[in-house]
Parts: sequence; structure tokens; C-alpha cells
Amino acid sequence: MRKNTPKPFPGYEKEYVEKAKELDVYYDGNFSTIKGHMNGKSPKEVVEYFKRIKKCTCGGDPTVRQWECMGDFGTIITCKSCGRRVEQTIYDRADCNDLTDAELALQKWNAGMTQAEIDRISEEKWEKKRLHEEDLHWKPLYPNNYIRNGQEGLYCMVFSKSENKIYCCKWTILFQMKEKEPLFETSEIEAYILFMKRYFDVKGPLKYPLPYSESFYGELFREQKKKTSRTLVASDVNDYGDFERAYKTLEEAKQGALHRCGCQGLNRETVIKKS
Ligand SMILES: [Zn+2]
Repeated sequence: MRKNTPKPFPGYEKEYVEKAKELDVYYDGNFSTIKGHMNGKSPKEVVEYFKRIKKCTCGGDPTVRQWECMGDFGTIITCKSCGRRVEQTIYDRADCNDLTDAELALQKWNAGMTQAEIDRISEEKWEKKRLHEEDLHWKPLYPNNYIRNGQEGLYCMVFSKSENKIYCCKWTILFQMKEKEPLFETSEIEAYILFMKRYFDVKGPLKYPLPYSESFYGELFREQKKKTSRTLVASDVNDYGDFERAYKTLEEAKQGALHRCGCQGLNRETVIKKS
């Protein structure tokens, strides 16, 4: 009696499985390298992908390497003769619609680009949209938002919108005063300490109430009563969040906050501009 052999999934037919294995395509997974495999592609799709890769500008043959590292992916196409190489990771494809890293690497390779050119273009793009000093509006910080307590630092808040929620990143720079002896501070600042606190769903006005000059406790009481309706309440100025770094100068501390904004996805295209 003839046995029924199950039909392979479309794209996984034997001819494609064997053909893919012969190609210069490697997949570096977390624990091993698989020849002829690419992330999310059937052997047929791997064969078709490889066919679309042009020879190098020098005439050399390309080789494809995909890597995966803890959930991140990238595709590298390299020339076996001259070493020309393009790499596309999933980080820098945000503004490229829904194309995969493999597809973007292919486009760049076929256009004859080098990695140095790709890096220069992405740097130029970033330079255009990154935040500058004038985008961060620093305000004086008073303990309990009460002016008579004296200024103990600066803070600034940067807002962006995502999925209809307001995200806020608050930077606080605390002035650390020099001590004459333990617990006795001088009026000389010896360090500027940067902290970061994040809010993922800000409700109410996008600022703290103005600092109080009088009757702090009255304000605090009124605030407690309306606390549910707004996220940024006056007493919260005391909550700096997490320590980031201590700096020797105020200028350096402000620059530290500015650079960290980039890591938080805050740039001129994403921040909410305030009047
Ligand atoms: Zn080449």
C-alpha cells in the first residue's frame, strides 16, 4: 500500500530547502549559526531574496549575515572580494515605513552604498531633529515649591505624545553645597546632580503650579483635594526620580540632560512645543 506523504508547507518544498542551504546566507541565532536561513522567511523566500542582491560594485559576490541578539535583529551584506559592507538593524528603520531590516539592507546594498555613507546620512538626519539647549526650559526648583525655602536646583520637563497619552521626562539638577564640616553647608556649590523621572500618562496642565511665596500649607491642602485630576502637583517637585550622574558644572549637567533626551525618544519631531 502506498503511504501518503504529507505535502510540505508552501515555500518549504525540498528543492528550495536544498537550494537555500547552498547560498552564502547565515543566520546567527542566540546559540547557533544556521546556513540558508533568514528571520521570518521560508527557504523559497530566502532563495528569492538572494537572487535580488546585485553583485558588488567591484564585481565581487555578496554574502548575507543576519543576527539576533536578545530580541533585536540586523542584516549585514558583505562583499567577499573588497569587503564593502552594509548593515541594517531594527533600531534605525523607524522612518522607513514597514520594511524589514533585510529589505532595507538589500536596497542600500543594491544602490552601491557603503557603511560610512549610511552612517553619515543617519547622523545628518539625527542632527536635523535633535533637541538643542533652547528646547529645554529650565526653571528654579524650590523645596515643596515654596520660594522661601530657597532655590535648591533647577528642573525642566519635556513632553511628547504617544498613543493618545502624554509622556513626560522630568530632569532635575540638584545643587550640592560644599560642607565646612559634616552637616554644615557653605554657600559654595561643589556638584550638580542630575536626576530623571518619567511619567507615562500625564493628566491635567503640563506644568507645576507656580511656586508659592506665602502660605504653602494652604496651597498644599487645596492641592491634595484636587490631586486626582492632575498628575503634576506641587509637592511632586520634591520627587526627582532616579540618579543619573553628578557633574562639576551646571553647563555639563544641562548637556547631560539634553543628550539623554535622545535616548528617551525626545526630539524636535516628537516633543510637544510649549508656548
Ligand atoms: Zn566588492
